Amino acid sequence: MVFDQLRIISILPKLFEYMKYQRQRERMVQEQLVARGINKREVLGAMYQVPRHLFVDEAFVMRAYGDHPLPIGEKQTISQPFMVAYMIEALRLNKNFRVLEIGTGSGYQTAILAEICEKVFSVERIKSLAQKAHRLLEQLGYHNFQILVDDGSKGWLEKAPFDGIIVSAAAPRIPPLLCEQLNEGGRLIIPVGDERSQTLRLIYKEGGEILEEEKFNCSFVKLIGEFGWDK
Ligand code: SAH
Repeated sequence: MVFDQLRIISILPKLFEYMKYQRQRERMVQEQLVARGINKREVLGAMYQVPRHLFVDEAFVMRAYGDHPLPIGEKQTISQPFMVAYMIEALRLNKNFRVLEIGTGSGYQTAILAEICEKVFSVERIKSLAQKAHRLLEQLGYHNFQILVDDGSKGWLEKAPFDGIIVSAAAPRIPPLLCEQLNEGGRLIIPVGDERSQTLRLIYKEGGEILEEEKFNCSFVKLIGEFGWDK
């Protein structure tokens, strides 16, 4: 009996911490996403579910649910929550979709995609980030993802075609191989522009034709590779 009480007391701090972050996620979803027009249930559900504080640099845990990007090591950043939600909502993902993500980074966006889709293929050029993301995603119980360490500006030919492609690094132009690896009806979202500022572009394939929409200005880290920037 005393032993049981001790056990309950010992897990209380963990329980309070869990509840604290859950409250922060709830506020993030309401104030940063719903208030700005994100309304797809699956996207909001995934953003509510995934523990973002585990994906940021330890020094920034307290700011994990803030309305901004944050460092994740190797001079890279995890996108602002709204940007992640907006880009994913724009892909109009379905449960049975296969998606390609370029720029695994911390693995946060990979987790959101894995909550929504059947299979997530993610490419990251920095090995240490890919390994860390892989470990954390497995610890959190995700199994429907694969990470490749490579230059994602060329896509992932062996796994193509994809129903959706999301690029979370800025490209000087739309990488042609990514369009080729898109399924009929598939959508690609990517920031395109110069090194400082870009425009978010949505590309979709309909009747074999490539159509394009420009969204809003944004600022991402550089896509480095054959169809991105030189190192
Ligand atoms: N979506 C990530 C953040 C991505 S930051 C998250 O949720 O944490 C952009 C990432 O793109 C960085 O990790 C960077 O290393 C990676 N990157 C840049 N160029 C790349 C390329 N050609 N192929 C794959 N990854 C690339």
